[in-house]
Amino acid sequence: MIPDKCSFCKGKLVKGKTEFVVKANDEMLVIKDVSALVCSECGEAYYSPDESGKIDKIMKKFHKSYCSR
Ligand SMILES: [Zn+2]
Repeated sequence: MIPDKCSFCKGKLVKGKTEFVVKANDEMLVIKDVSALVCSECGEAYYSPDESGKIDKIMKKFHKSYCSR
């Protein structure tokens, strides 16, 4: 669930786009333009269930292709 305030600093959450970085050992994947609610104080991003599902899929693909080498 996405809180209506930042759970770290109680800052205001604003709709925006963020980057999600996936790391596997020395490989790195950046997922750009992920819609999220971003804290205006500390920059912490909160993803909707839809977006985290997408991120999950991309991460699984990424790890699979990395491990099959
Ligand atoms: Zn915050």
